[in-house]
Amino acid sequence: MNSLIAEHLIEAIKDIVSPPCPLHEPLFIGNESKYVHECISSGWVSTVGSFVDRFEEMLCEFTGSDFAVATVNGTSALHVALLLAGVSEDCEVFMPSLSFVATANAVAYCGAIPHFIDIERTNLGLDPSVLSAHLEQNFARTGSHWINKATGRRAGAIVPVHAFGHPCDIEAICEVGKTFGIPIVEDAAESLGSYYKDRHTGTFGESGILSFNGNKVVTCGAGGAILTQDEELQKRAKHLTTTAKQPHPWEYFHDQIGFNYRMPNLNAALGCAQLESLPEFLERKRTLFQKYKATLTKLEDIQLVEEPEHCRSNYWLQTIILKSEEASNSRDSVLHQLNQQGILARPAWIPLNQLPMYSSCPSTTLDVTNAIVPRLINLPSGPKLMQEEYA
Ligand SMILES: *Cc1c(COP(=O)(O)O)cnc(C)c1O
Repeated sequence: MNSLIAEHLIEAIKDIVSPPCPLHEPLFIGNESKYVHECISSGWVSTVGSFVDRFEEMLCEFTGSDFAVATVNGTSALHVALLLAGVSEDCEVFMPSLSFVATANAVAYCGAIPHFIDIERTNLGLDPSVLSAHLEQNFARTGSHWINKATGRRAGAIVPVHAFGHPCDIEAICEVGKTFGIPIVEDAAESLGSYYKDRHTGTFGESGILSFNGNKVVTCGAGGAILTQDEELQKRAKHLTTTAKQPHPWEYFHDQIGFNYRMPNLNAALGCAQLESLPEFLERKRTLFQKYKATLTKLEDIQLVEEPEHCRSNYWLQTIILKSEEASNSRDSVLHQLNQQGILARPAWIPLNQLPMYSSCPSTTLDVTNAIVPRLINLPSGPKLMQEEYA
């Protein structure tokens, strides 16, 4: 039966795109070369320069965020955002176990412990009702903190992830944060161009982070950003990411242990050009989704993940779920057959609680995660695949 699923899938996909098709290739169709050359000619290629400032302004304009601080990558952005949320060694940080490893790593860099919460079937994001019930049952209030009754550690932050670009139920998650007095740091690394009720993802929490890695919706080569609506937090983020050096014409005075996390101007030059193309990339990715939907709905064994209600997704990675429970046995053979045909589909990440360094972290039961992840496949999704349509 599994070879039949694969055969039908391959046929359907080949109707839309021609192999070889990578999972998500970057696309440079605008001012990329021009801006990078300009940057080199100016001599300002490193951590100071006009492209970094312009990149931050463009991010604010696009997302509606009041402030943005550009960093060397998304992981460093999350590390600093967590430190500024007060995450430290005595903390546990709530997150879905369905995420890229960076989400948990950034928590570990703070000396804190990831605490895994199950996800919702509809949007593949952290389930607010599971989190709320879990806090009620297993945490006790001490002063202004909620303490895990089993471990003695305090609840430090909630890190919702907008998985594959689909907004999670961020409004309900913020309500839980408010009720328990726990700060929200949104991992919006995958969701540039995704909105929850017309508001851009990453702007709901006390901070949010973006990534501009080579496989994300737009790329700086490598890069990240912290979004925040709090001017004080923005100032502290900028200070911490620039080695905590106090401004002075010639003196090197650093007032705390800072980080060398500032985005170089050269990367920002590439990023500015990419942001100019972002609206077109989003349009192309939506067209690709519609094409996948038109053909894949004919296949009974497959469910295509669509943007959640009241949301607009960037469709960073097109995602299908094999419907039947037995199908989880056949995922790898489906993947194998797709890849053999040059359709470079990929599985979801291995849930973080199954990685050796995070296997003993606390968690809720992960029934939904465990039921869905083994049946999940990401299909080729890059804007380059729709080249002819838009040529
Ligand atoms: C890509 C990604 C990151 C990290 O971004 P980098 O820029 O690669 O450091 C963090 N979280 C999630 C969910 C991601 O997909």
